[in-house]
Amino acid sequence: MKLTSAEIKDLAEMAGFTVDSQDCEMDQEFIIQECSPGGIEDENGVMRRYAHIAWSQEYPEEGAMPLGVEIVSTEREHEASEDCWCSPELNYVDPDNGNKVFVHRQAQ
Ligand SMILES: [Zn+2]
Repeated sequence: MKLTSAEIKDLAEMAGFTVDSQDCEMDQEFIIQECSPGGIEDENGVMRRYAHIAWSQEYPEEGAMPLGVEIVSTEREHEASEDCWCSPELNYVDPDNGNKVFVHRQAQ
């Protein structure tokens, strides 16, 4: 879905916000879409899930921006890897074969 600044202003006002649009171009276009199930990378490279993400049509190089509150699900499955979304904690390294045991964190 594509929304213009003017439409976003109307939406914000509908939600009860007071918008100062003095320095805004009203015809800027923003693409809004559902976040992929894998989530979106934050500034630390951690994948985080949101319902929707948005980016500027004019400046796509600025990247996608998550909208609203992160979705943290207790039903989310962990990956059998230290690269799991929960950033598992290294718990034990087997001295014989070097195998690492990671403890996964529970979603809050
Ligand atoms: Zn995990």
